[in-house]
Amino acid sequence: MRGHMRYLGEPGCRCAHPGYDSYDSEPFRMTDALPRPFAVDHPDVLALDLAALDARPGAVLLAHSPFYPGGGGQLPDRGTLAWNGIVRVVTGLEPTADGIWHLFGDDLETSGTVTLRVDAAFRQRMCEQHTVAHLVNSAVYTLFDGALLTGVRMTDTDEFSVDFDLPKVAPEQLRAVEDAVNAAIADDRPVRAFDMDYDAAQATAGLFRAKSVAPPRQANGLIRIVDIDGLDRQACGGTHLVSTARARRIRILKVDNKGRQNRRLRIGLASE
Ligand SMILES: [Zn+2]
Repeated sequence: MRGHMRYLGEPGCRCAHPGYDSYDSEPFRMTDALPRPFAVDHPDVLALDLAALDARPGAVLLAHSPFYPGGGGQLPDRGTLAWNGIVRVVTGLEPTADGIWHLFGDDLETSGTVTLRVDAAFRQRMCEQHTVAHLVNSAVYTLFDGALLTGVRMTDTDEFSVDFDLPKVAPEQLRAVEDAVNAAIADDRPVRAFDMDYDAAQATAGLFRAKSVAPPRQANGLIRIVDIDGLDRQACGGTHLVSTARARRIRILKVDNKGRQNRRLRIGLASE
């Protein structure tokens, strides 16, 4: 029993791909045993009615979920579940081979159809930060001779950070990163995702941008690639804006040293 889908509001973000092991956010490792998160292929679906596959006090097992489970630096979605007029905040997600346990920290047990509802504003924030993270990554990769990403920390504020393996950064180079990102935003480039043969992706320079983690090979031998039209392509897990102009302009607020090699770029999104 899969339940039926309901589409709420405007599409916030369209392109997405499998979650992979994260840096600083909730760990979520995709394996062959776990299907690709529903949110990856249906990022526009923010509400779903589903029949429970199993239930226990404070948790219900559902075949799938509109909630992105977290990974790749992107935080798990927030939102609610409801049944029989009772509404609870979803406090955790536990993907299994059979479905996804939705936790709601309560002694109650659900009955009948369960309605899941993702917090659209929070998802939008994640899509914006994730898309900007790609643009920053692209600018750093280009301006610093293929420097690789070492971490991402998205937040529920207008600031987040991206870490790179960058031994030396001159202030004027950072200005160039900021300018490149804002130019890409102004260009309004479409953002799309497609699947590609994993081995072919491995053999293509520049598609894997993280130093120590990478999205895994999917069970079908493919990997998700995110394409920012005419600018950048990389393997990644998460949800994104449909085009770069949906993001606000950025400022690089600060650069922190994180060890000898790592530099943390603190990114601020314009408040207007
Ligand atoms: Zn991404």
